[in-house]
Amino acid sequence: MFNLNPEKIREDFPIFKRKINGKPIIYFDNAATTHKPQRVLDSIINFYTQHNANIHRGVHKLSQEASQLYEQAHKTVGKFINAKQEEVIFTRNTTESLNLVYYSLSRGLNKGDEIITTLMEHHSNIVPLLELQKLKGIKVKYIEVNEDGTLNLEQYDKEITKKTKIITVTHSSNVLGTINPVKEIEKIAHDARSLFIVDAAQSAPHMEINFKKINADFIAFSAHKMLGPTGIGVLAGKKDLLEEMPPFLLGGDMIQEVHRDSWKPNKLPWKFEAGTPNIADGIAFAEAINYLKNIGMEKLRKHEKELTGYTLEKLKEIQNIEIYGPLDANKKSGIISFNLKNIQPHQVAGILDSMQNIMCRSGMLCAQPLVETLSKEGVVRVSFYVYNTKQEIDTFIDCLKKLKPLSS
Ligand code: PMP
Repeated sequence: MFNLNPEKIREDFPIFKRKINGKPIIYFDNAATTHKPQRVLDSIINFYTQHNANIHRGVHKLSQEASQLYEQAHKTVGKFINAKQEEVIFTRNTTESLNLVYYSLSRGLNKGDEIITTLMEHHSNIVPLLELQKLKGIKVKYIEVNEDGTLNLEQYDKEITKKTKIITVTHSSNVLGTINPVKEIEKIAHDARSLFIVDAAQSAPHMEINFKKINADFIAFSAHKMLGPTGIGVLAGKKDLLEEMPPFLLGGDMIQEVHRDSWKPNKLPWKFEAGTPNIADGIAFAEAINYLKNIGMEKLRKHEKELTGYTLEKLKEIQNIEIYGPLDANKKSGIISFNLKNIQPHQVAGILDSMQNIMCRSGMLCAQPLVETLSKEGVVRVSFYVYNTKQEIDTFIDCLKKLKPLSS
């Protein structure tokens, strides 16, 4: 297997032609959102200039074309994760996907029922649960995180009761980079006759995801973290479950018929896509997936592993650094969070940006329950993708060596 060539890949991304203060952009904030290749941008323009019409409504040619392209996009996404087209619901993002599934499932939950999440979750896999706790008396339990950044899997045995209805976990942590053993947790969840929900926001962009193999009941992810546009996300769910579940939003397109006193839901997945959807971006998402497929997810993962291993090795040269999460690139995605002693994380991020346009994230990373346990001030996070290079990492390491606190 040949390695991918990030220099060549960068040529497909117009943003990398941009210079700021005469210097190139070193973009290490890919866990927040990724850049978009020309092909994806062209797809958006092409939709609006050639096919623009609402879907599933008109008998005219443009509406037929738009419907066909939008439906094809669901098929492309389904194939990418090994799910059926009708199991793929387009939402705005992972956050909406998780809200959708919890809202819909909550109609069948009762006071005292329990959901087990983990302390490693993004806010989007905590806050909807806390709201269910408040509104419906559902009990939320957390699996704790070990010192080495892995989940305390033994704790499941203690937490599971007859009332456990849902077990949920992030496939990969947006703070620590830890890749969680979802297959193992799936078995724990299904042995306990609980539903299993996976937040794949930080895994679907970086490794091969096989919905059938993972055997999750639902998985959620966002297009914008995998070269696609913002405003498009996915909830994939098992067909038999989705068929039983009530819809989240009600109105146009999600119905088959409406009468004065009754309505009948549409077939899947449209039952869960009420109103005019984000047609152009859904179609462009399929283009992003085709781009990723061309590269090959195995090659992409190998490249990120190499960059991560290289960075972890180089970071050994930095004094007064604390790195959080696994230190083995095989056990994590391309995410490294750290702190430098005596310099606030926002200051570190600001200085890196001003020195060499090194763009990284700092603060609580939308995962405050976890990050607070690491540092009250938050952390600095670098996160890599397919277009990042070792030279960029060298520049980053050089900057860290020179970095001194700004005088206040
Ligand atoms: N889950 C995880 C693990 C994430 O990293 C993120 C985004 N940072 C989300 C959920 C939410 O994604 P979005 O903002 O696209 O809804």
